[in-house]
Amino acid sequence: MNFETRAIRTQLDRTQHREHSAPVYNTSGFIFEDAEQMRALFAEEYEGHMYSRYSNPNSSEFEEKIKLLEGVEDAFATASGMAAVFASLAPLLQNGDHIVASSALFGASVTILTKILPRYGITATLVHPEQPEAWEKAIRPNTKMLFLETPSNPGLAVIDLAWAGELARKHGLIFNVDNCFATPYLQQPAHYGADLITHSATKFIDGQGRVLGGVVAGRKDLIAEVRKFCRATGPSMAPFNAWVLSKSLETLAVRMDRHCDNALRIAEHFQDHPEVERVNYPFLPSHPQYDIARRQMKAGGGIITLTVRGGLERCRQFIDARQMISLSANLGDTRTIITHPAFSTHSKLSEEERQAIGILPGLVRLSVGLEHPNDIIADLEQALEKSKVASEVR
Ligand SMILES: *Cc1c(COP(=O)(O)O)cnc(C)c1O
Repeated sequence: MNFETRAIRTQLDRTQHREHSAPVYNTSGFIFEDAEQMRALFAEEYEGHMYSRYSNPNSSEFEEKIKLLEGVEDAFATASGMAAVFASLAPLLQNGDHIVASSALFGASVTILTKILPRYGITATLVHPEQPEAWEKAIRPNTKMLFLETPSNPGLAVIDLAWAGELARKHGLIFNVDNCFATPYLQQPAHYGADLITHSATKFIDGQGRVLGGVVAGRKDLIAEVRKFCRATGPSMAPFNAWVLSKSLETLAVRMDRHCDNALRIAEHFQDHPEVERVNYPFLPSHPQYDIARRQMKAGGGIITLTVRGGLERCRQFIDARQMISLSANLGDTRTIITHPAFSTHSKLSEEERQAIGILPGLVRLSVGLEHPNDIIADLEQALEKSKVASEVR
């Protein structure tokens, strides 16, 4: 079956009510028929729900879909994207282990690697996504994992998954990919040898800005460790959120097609604009890794960055002059969202760390929504015009 069909037709068994759409199983626990069943389930002699921190029909349906859409063996749903990222690291590494990771990772992922895991004796070397020659040099005898994000947030650096997969294989490393920006619809890292794939389902998988969620997908033996870790430590996905996210997957393909079409139109519109210094989008030929993006992604994704002329103050005026577009830290919503990474998601990094991953003071991240592209363009145009006048008056 094709992607769209799997996303729609993978479904829990119907109950005696013959419902068409799977219900929400808002229950913390499940009953056992008798003492013997309780014993057998706890002994894991066969599979069945016991307690929603372990599993729930709604999270199982969501995991089953992710598994099929990413083309992997198993998946475990978590309460948020960060819970998924942490669960893809903590159970598989121990004191003395080392990770080689892209420096262009989500801000909180960098915090885990540089501030939290080192306290437990797990260290990381961050390597620049656009300097592949530095990656192999960073691998040490105790390196256990290669962790990256492509396209990256917010710099949209694209890393060659085939190359990275080969590097991981050659050195026997667990290859871990945060696939949040692309979603399994645009790119399937398992095709390039990824052992683990993490998602913030909060973003395009929900796509409507309603719930938090995450998922770790990948090799069966590794997900077994992730599941054991999460069952004990508790970052499980709530049944209602799992129900919302499983429904959301039914429309992922059509939504992503439109996000990508809108984003490309907007990127093309602003690429030669006199008030915009630079537009970055993986499917614009000016993108430094355009060829790699074309090779490994079905389309360019829903995120663009724009660097407005005039630096920080002008950028502030531009953001405040928008009328329709939302100012929010989230992304992957039906509503177009603008974010100023230097002041928000990446404010914990130093100026040098930001510069190194291309976050300039005038850079805004645009999560292109599903409104009509002409309306998005019109709002950006009027904000550029108004901020131009405002900065001239100053
Ligand atoms: C948002 C995001 C996360 C974290 O996800 P939450 O659901 O907010 O915890 C991780 N990685 C990337 C690339 C993200 O954009």
